[in-house]
Amino acid sequence: MTVFYNPTSIFNSLSDEVVVELSPTQILKSQVCQRSLGYYRARVKPLATPLNLVFGSALHWVVEGYIKGFIDRDQMEKQFSNEFFRLSMSGLISMAKSKTRDINEVIGKRLAKQFPEFFDNLGLRPVIIEGAFKLRIAPNTYINLVIDFVGIAERDIVFNGVVIAAKGDTVILDWKTAAAKEGALFAGIALQLTFYWEAVRLACQQLGIKEPAACGFASGLKPNVSKAESDSLSKAIWMPVQWTKRTASDVEEAFDYARVVASRIRRGEFHRTSGAAYNSPCDSQTRCDYAGLCLEGSKRGYKIPSGFTLADLV
Ligand code: SF4
Repeated sequence: MTVFYNPTSIFNSLSDEVVVELSPTQILKSQVCQRSLGYYRARVKPLATPLNLVFGSALHWVVEGYIKGFIDRDQMEKQFSNEFFRLSMSGLISMAKSKTRDINEVIGKRLAKQFPEFFDNLGLRPVIIEGAFKLRIAPNTYINLVIDFVGIAERDIVFNGVVIAAKGDTVILDWKTAAAKEGALFAGIALQLTFYWEAVRLACQQLGIKEPAACGFASGLKPNVSKAESDSLSKAIWMPVQWTKRTASDVEEAFDYARVVASRIRRGEFHRTSGAAYNSPCDSQTRCDYAGLCLEGSKRGYKIPSGFTLADLV
């Protein structure tokens, strides 16, 4: 039976005096579906944690551990397995359609093992690892950021035949795991890197470093393999960084967009995104975390899906 209820606490509008804090993840969610952003902000629990998230968290943990020096290079595989197991035990996990848990573990161990050599070859001296920043984008409106890596180039970084960062320059990296390497276009417009860039630029004097010269994603590839003994496992490698830069106008556009998202939050606008007829976020392969929980209807009369109460959602 469908329960009728108005869960206004989730989608209430907010006055100008209330501080609105965003994150790059929230801004990306708003681009997929504004209603999923409402759930995320209200900490609605997905029915299950996606395995990809568990994988990414475990890999980030060993990468951070290696750079900070609390995990030795010969312990990377083992520490990944331990962390992957620990995080997998914390609740119901939704499986990726293409890979089993075991295959995820094999891929993660490979990437963890390769990371020290990959990192050493980048020639970067760490300055900040998992550093928290806060950007003010409007009165009472902020973006909170945690930047994976800010470092200093220990030698010139040549990309596409040009020196994109000279020795001594500041660079920013985000660790990524995906089935395919990001293209130049995505690296060039990704809002996440734009916010990182501006946060580091504003803080660089305080940090005693130069303004950023380059930024990019360091991607560990998760190939689509269905058997642990597959030859395709050899494609699980760290890809060369797709270095890119940001301009003042990139930053201006990103801030403008963040202000649009913040004002929609203030107005309590959390409309569902219908998406295309095929590949909609509600039921595509990269399925929305809130599929199955998603409220039906509008502010005039939300309905909670059959079998759930509000207490199940929040
Ligand atoms: S299930 Fe669909 S409409 Fe609901 S939050 Fe997710 S993407 Fe949006």
